[in-house]
Parts: sequence; structure tokens; C-alpha cells
Amino acid sequence: MRSLKIIGGHKVILLEGLHKHFGHLHVLKGIDLQVKTGEKLVVIGPSGSGKSTLIRCMNLLEKPSSGKVVVDGVEITAHKAPVAKVRQSVAMVFQQFNLYPHKTVLENLTLAPTLIKGVSKEEAEVSGMAILERVGLKVKANAYPSQLSGGQQQRVAIARALNMKPKIMLFDEPTSALDPEMIQEVLDVMVDLAHEGITMVVVTHEMGFARQVADRVLFMDEGEVLETGTPEHFFTNPTHERTKLFLSRIL
Ligand code: ADP
Ligand code: MG
Repeated sequence: MRSLKIIGGHKVILLEGLHKHFGHLHVLKGIDLQVKTGEKLVVIGPSGSGKSTLIRCMNLLEKPSSGKVVVDGVEITAHKAPVAKVRQSVAMVFQQFNLYPHKTVLENLTLAPTLIKGVSKEEAEVSGMAILERVGLKVKANAYPSQLSGGQQQRVAIARALNMKPKIMLFDEPTSALDPEMIQEVLDVMVDLAHEGITMVVVTHEMGFARQVADRVLFMDEGEVLETGTPEHFFTNPTHERTKLFLSRIL
């Protein structure tokens, strides 16, 4: 069997010259980005700046118009790349939880590992129950999504992603659809996860979360990365006027 070329070393995500067009709309305008193994990257920026498109390119939910995406050493934009295999190691959590409504919480957790990874049902249930315990929802294993609050549903969505044992977790505004009183319980789960060393890319407006866990914050505007830096840099000394304006509006 042909061996895959390993690119990028300890960089688990590598984007090079990434462009995305939707018809005439130029949404990503040449993004270069490297995410290190274990890094927590928080992506901020105004609505419509391309944040979702950017992270969706990291698992090819969106196909870039040009440029290169390398995930865990494999160039997934290459011809005949093993996209399905790489996707197994990149989990995504969305603003809308997208749980399977006719499956119980535990079934939501065991479906992908058994169908896609070939894990046995028993094994997927054991690991699923352990993860549910971790997110504080073991007692809800046999409930259906409609019987849960929004915060609980999003914690199940995170648990479901974790039961695939991913190397990378992508979060696209995971708390934006939640009632205010439910935001913290989801952020707590994410903070707990961050302390475990998994690589995380998080699009969020939760600046408290960014301060607490981000190794690096990236500010996007109109399809470009305008500024990156540590949370300290961002919140005390942003360079660009547009960054300052954005922060003044959301803080
Ligand atoms: P953000 O997540 O920062 O709000 P998005 O990446 O969702 O930004 O969108 C960036 C731009 O691309 C927006 O103008 C949006 O309307 C457009 N866009 C996103 N997805 C599509 C699509 N599937 N088809 C056409 N336009 C899209
Ligand atoms: Mg978005």
C-alpha cells in the first residue's frame, strides 16, 4: 500500500493560501494558518467575516476553491485524499445541536463509532456512559433529545463528538443558540475538555472563555485574518482599529 506523505510535523492543522468563493462572493481571501497539537485557538470576528466557512474547510464540510488543507499530516485537499478517515479524527460541534431526534442520548453517542469506526456496540456504550458522566448527563442516557434543555442537548452533542475519540474538536458558536442561563454549563464542559490537551478551534463571542483557555486568538474580518495574538494582547493591546471596534462592541 502506498504510504501517505506526512506533512506538518507537530502542526495538526495547516492551511495554506486558502480561498473560498460562493459564486461571486469571495469569502476567504488567502488564509495561512497553523494550529499546533494541543493548541486552543479561538476565532472571533464580525458576522459574515468567514469564521464558519474557515472552520468548515478544516474538515472539508466546505471545499476550498483553492489552497491547501493539511490535517494530522494528511493533505485532505489532495486528489483522492482519505477524507473520510481524516474526518474521524476531526469532530465538529455546531450552534444548532443537530442531535438525532428519534434516538436516545446514548444511541446518539454510539451511532457514529459503531457505524463509521466499526467499534462494537458494547464498547461504544461503555465509553459513551463514561463521557456522559463527565458532562454530567449520565442520568439522561435513555432520554430523547426533546426531553432535554438546550444546554443539556449541547452537552450531549459535545459528548457525541467525544465518543469518536477525535484528535481535533471544532466548535462553531456552540453557545450562541442557548438561553443565557445555559451558556455556562456548556462552557464548563469545554473548559474541562481544554484542560485534557485535545486540540480545539473555537468560534465564539464568549470572551471570558477566550481569556480562560485560548493559547491564541485570531480576529477575522472580511475573509482575512487581520490579527492573531495571545488573549492578553487581544484584550489589552489590539493593534488594528477594526479589532478595537469589534471588541468595544462585544465586551
Ligand atoms: P461567519 O461565520 O463569520 O458569520 P460565514 O463563514 O458563515 O461567516 O459566511 C461568510 C460569507 O459567506 C457570508 O457573506 C455568507 O452569507 C456567505 N456564505 C456562507 N455560506 C454560504 C453558502 N453555502 N452559499 C453562499 N454563501 C455563503
Ligand atoms: Mg458563523
